[in-house]
Formats: sequence, structure tokens, C-alpha cells
Amino acid sequence: MSIEKEKGTYDIIPDDSLVFYSVRKNIEKIFQTYGYFFCETSSIQPEELFKRTIGIASDIVTKEMFYIESDKPRFVLKPEETAPLIFSLFENRLADSKVYEKFFYFTKVYRHEKPQKGRLREFYQYGAESLGDFKKERDGEMILLAEKILNQFGIEDYELNINNIGCKNCRAGYLNLLKDYFKKNQDNLCKDCQRKIDTNTLRIFDCKNENCKKVSLNAPLITDNLCSSCKNDFEELKDFLKENDLSYNVNPYIVRGLDYYEKNVFEFVETGGNLGSQSTLIGGGRYRYKKDNVLKNDITGVGFAGGVERLILSIPENVKKDLKREESCDVYVAHMGGKTFERSLKVVYFLREKGIKTDIFYNEARINKILSLASKKNVKLVLILGEEELSEEKITLKNMETGFQKKIKLDEKILLEEIKTEISNV
Ligand SMILES: [Zn+2]
Ligand SMILES: [Zn+2]
Repeated sequence: MSIEKEKGTYDIIPDDSLVFYSVRKNIEKIFQTYGYFFCETSSIQPEELFKRTIGIASDIVTKEMFYIESDKPRFVLKPEETAPLIFSLFENRLADSKVYEKFFYFTKVYRHEKPQKGRLREFYQYGAESLGDFKKERDGEMILLAEKILNQFGIEDYELNINNIGCKNCRAGYLNLLKDYFKKNQDNLCKDCQRKIDTNTLRIFDCKNENCKKVSLNAPLITDNLCSSCKNDFEELKDFLKENDLSYNVNPYIVRGLDYYEKNVFEFVETGGNLGSQSTLIGGGRYRYKKDNVLKNDITGVGFAGGVERLILSIPENVKKDLKREESCDVYVAHMGGKTFERSLKVVYFLREKGIKTDIFYNEARINKILSLASKKNVKLVLILGEEELSEEKITLKNMETGFQKKIKLDEKILLEEIKTEISNV
């Protein structure tokens, strides 16, 4: 009998875990380089939080939440991180403290969807939030940061799409125009889209049905219906991107599915065909958490989020290989038992003290077996200390990448220098 696992979940184990771990470390380092501080909220959150922020008509709230059986209030596994993070910052009096303004996260989120390539029920999201007034520099930094992450992993097949989805002054008027248009054409829409006309109008743009796509093509566009403030903000963002040599497309169909977005929004979309229909790598934009009986003031900012698994699917294979090697052990020591084992252990302890990732096979084995194991584990260098080497006060160093090997003096300091040189050559 086998125990069946939940669909759309996976375990992070070697050697895929080496890539995952490297991705995580690299992303966190980039965020820190840009001045962002790490945060993570609990996985278990009140249902009410998401109804209130991402909207009761959103796909997430209507059909994608994992409920936890408990008494009222109802709890769910968080489907995204921005809303719980903003509320936590508010509760902890950090949302407008001006001490911390920029935050990043790397956390698990949960959505009860039909699993497919690049879409899981339990997955990791990384993202950043920069709280404060709307400013083109704040938007621009977010976009630069997102692009930096893609570049870090050698991802080249992507496009930056931008849009402005309006504000409280122009969005409602536009939505009414759009509703009227879709109502006039509702006979040509699928059942699902017909239901969305009144509740989730913009989402009709996302429908993959050919007829719905045709109707959408002639629909009024938000970019033609912006107020002067939104128009100005959008032009400023374009100027910023031009000044920083970032190429972009204006895509008036980007809606972002969540209620809290406002004005400038953006998406990085994979164009290399690695992700099938789930091609959005990173999505974000400006948002406003409106004041209500919980929040005393509006909280504004700009942020983005990306799925870690989609990112990994988009990383070229040669880069993944390098990441694996980076995360693996630098040095493995092989010995022939007895005195060679004792002496090898001293080498291991010394190298570890010096920050070299080092391990040893405790059991003596044929050298070919050890080399084959080291190769499977992506180890960079193998040191071999046999009876013969020990009697000569020498040790053999083998570079697993190039196959090059040489005997060097069995002296820890000399050994360390040789190892550093070899590792930097790999
Ligand atoms: Zn506006
Ligand atoms: Zn449809």
C-alpha cells in the first residue's frame, strides 16, 4: 500500500535541492544588496484578511484557498504574502514608522488549483515591498530589482510588460465602460466570463477561450481612459525605464488579479517556452491598502512577487549545473584506513576551520568507487591519502572537473593555497 501525497506538492531533496538552495541564497543576497529586510509571516492566516484585501470576487478567494478545519474565525493557509505582511507591519507599528520601509520575503504559499507545469498547490514565493508614497523611483527600483534576479540566473528569454490600471478617480468610470461593453457582447462570452461581467470584469481579459479573446480585442482600454494623474505617473515610469535602458512593452491587458493594485503595474513574462501557459515570472505594481476599521490610514507602496519553481524551470541547464557545483562540497578526502584515516581527519578538520566545505568517506573503499561517488555529488576536488603518499609526506589532489591531478606536500597551509587556487579555476 502506498501513501498518496497531495497533488501539486513536492519535496526538496538532493540534488534538485542544491539548485533550490542556491536560488534562495542568491535572491536573498540581491534583496539585501538593495537595502531590503527579511520578513516572513505565519502560514496560517484568517480568511477575512484575504477577503478584505485581495477581494471577495478574486479567483484566490472564490476558489483557491485551503481551509483549516477550526471554529470561527476561519483560518486558511496563506495564498500570498503581501496582505499578511502589510497587516503584520501595521500591527507591529512598522507600516509608517519610517525606520523600516523596504521588506523582502521567501516563503511558502498555498493555492487549491489544478496542478500543471509551473503551477503547484504548495509553492514558494519570493518578493519585495517598498512602502511609502508613490514615486517613479520606487517603481523603477522594483523593476530593476526584479530584472537583476532574472539576470543573476542567466535567464534571457523574457519581456517586461507594463500598464497603468488607474486609480480611484478613473478606474470606476473605466470599469463601467467595460461592463457596458461586455454586456452588449455577452452572447459571445463563455459562461464563466458572463458571470464575471459584474463581479470581476477585468479578469475576462485573462480568459483563454477564443471567442472571449475576440470580444476582448475590441474592448475599451484602460490606457485610453486614465485620469491626468495616472497618465502622468505612467509617462514618468516609461521615462525612468528609457533612462535606464530597460526595454518594455505597454500591455493594456495586464490587470493583476488582486483588488489592492493601483496605477503602475508590471509583469516579467517568460518567452522561451519553458513554462507553457504559466508564463508570468514576476508580477507586481503599486498598491493601496485602504483604511478601514482595522487600518487607521491608507498604506501605499509598490511590490512584486515571483514563483520560485517557475524561476527554476526557466534557468538554463548549464547555469543549474554551476549552481549545483557551487552548493556541493568543495573537497572530499579519500583514505586507506589506519594511519591514513587518522591523518586525513586532521586535514578535514583544518580545512573546515578555514571555511572550505570538506567531507570524508569514513569507510575505506576502492579509490574508483570514491571518485565515482564524489562525481555524483558534484564535488570539486578529491584529496587522496594512501600508504604510499603518507610515507612520502605527500597527498594527491584531483580536480574532478578537469581530471587534472598532482601530488603536493602534506602540509596544511600549502594544501589550503593549492585548494583555493584549484577551486577558483573550476
Ligand atoms: Zn487615475
Ligand atoms: Zn471566457
